Amino acid sequence: MTFNKLKHGQTIGIIGGGQLGKMMAQSAQKMGYRVVVLDPDKSCPCQYVAHEFINAAYDDMTALKQLGDMSDVITYEFENIAAQQLKSLTEDYNVPQGYEAIALLQDRLTEKQTLQQAGVQVVPFMQVTQPDDVLDVAEKLGYPFMIKTRFGGYDGKGQILVHSEDDLDEAKALVEQQECVAEQFLMLEREVSLTATIGSEGRVAYFPLQENEHRDQILFKTIVPARVDKESEARLEVEKITRAIHLVGTFTVEFFVDQVGQLYVNEIAPRPHNSGHYSIEACDYSQFDTHILAVTGQTLPSEIQLLKPAVMMNLLGKDLDLLESQFDQHPEWHVHIYGKASRKPARKMGHMTLLTNDTDQTEQEMIALFEGRDQ
Ligand code: ADP
Ligand code: MG
Repeated sequence: MTFNKLKHGQTIGIIGGGQLGKMMAQSAQKMGYRVVVLDPDKSCPCQYVAHEFINAAYDDMTALKQLGDMSDVITYEFENIAAQQLKSLTEDYNVPQGYEAIALLQDRLTEKQTLQQAGVQVVPFMQVTQPDDVLDVAEKLGYPFMIKTRFGGYDGKGQILVHSEDDLDEAKALVEQQECVAEQFLMLEREVSLTATIGSEGRVAYFPLQENEHRDQILFKTIVPARVDKESEARLEVEKITRAIHLVGTFTVEFFVDQVGQLYVNEIAPRPHNSGHYSIEACDYSQFDTHILAVTGQTLPSEIQLLKPAVMMNLLGKDLDLLESQFDQHPEWHVHIYGKASRKPARKMGHMTLLTNDTDQTEQEMIALFEGRDQ
C-alpha cells in the first residue's frame, strides 16, 4: 500500500472529537498539520483544538465527504463509526487505515472469529442470536459467564456478568435488544495491553507492555512497565493479529492473564487507547505522535523508549472534586482534563500520569487517594 506523504500545513481530518481525537489533534498540530474534526456533539473536547469543526452524525455521508474535501488524509478516533460510509470514503479520499479493520473489529463476533482463525488464544465464546440461546450458553460454558452486545459496547457498556440462573432474564433482555456473544468469565490474575503503531512500509513500533486494572469494567489505572513477564509472548500474539488483520496507525491489544499464567486476547482497539496515555509523558514518542507519523506517511522510530516508569490514573466525574482540590499541591501529577461539557460519575473526564522510580509505592499512594474519595 502506498502512503501519501503529507507536508507541514496540510490537513488531517479526524472522525470523532472526543479525548482521543483531541490528543491526536494536539500531536498533529505540534508537527505543523491543520486539523478538521467531525463529531455529532458540538461541545465535544475537540471543539477547543480543531482548526475547523463539522457538526454532523458519523454516518452523514454529505458531511463525511465535506470532511474528505477539506482534508489530505482521513483518520478516526474510535471504532464505532459507520463502516459502510468509511468504505465509500476510501474510494475518493486518502484513508490509509482503510475500512476493513473497523468493519471487522466493531463486531465482537467477527473479531473473535478472526482471532481464533489466526491461531490466537481467546476466551471460549459462543454466538447468541436468540434470547433462549443463553440457556445453551449456561450449559456449555457454565456460570459465571459474560454476555456482550456484538456492536457498540465500550467501558463495560452493553455487557452483563451472569452469575447464576437468577441473572438469565437480564441476559435475555440484552439479547432482545441486540445479538450478542457470550464468553466464559475468567478469574483474572492480571490484565495487560500492548500498544503498537504500524506505519508506511509496514514498520511496527511497539510501546512497552502495560498493566491495567479495571474497576466496574472501566480502566482505573495503568502501570508501565507491566509487572509480569509476558511482553514477548504478547508480541507474538500481536504478530499473528497483524498478519490476519490489515492494521495501520496506532492500535492496542487487550489481554487477560489467568491464574495459571495463560495469556488470552480480549479485544483489539484499532486506534489510540486509554492504556497508552502514559506515553505522552513517559515515552520519547506518544501513541498519538506515532499515529500521526503513520497516517501522514512519515517514517516511524524503530524503537519507542520508556523514559521513566509511570502510573496513569483515569479521572472520572466522581473523582474530580477531590482531586481538583489537590492539583495545585502536586505539580508532579501530569493532569489532563478533556473538556467534556457534561460531567457524569462514571464518565472519563481526564487522566493523570505520574512518573516514578517506584511504581509499587506510587500505586499504593494513588489507591489510598482514590479510595479516600469514597469515604
Ligand atoms: P469494553 O469494550 O467495555 O472495554 P471488555 O470486553 O474489554 O469491554 O470488558 C471490560 C472489562 O471487563 C475487561 O477489561 C475485564 O476487566 C472485564 N471482563 C470482560 N470480559 C471478561 C471475561 N470474560 N472474564 C473476566 N473479566 C472480563
Ligand atoms: Mg476493553
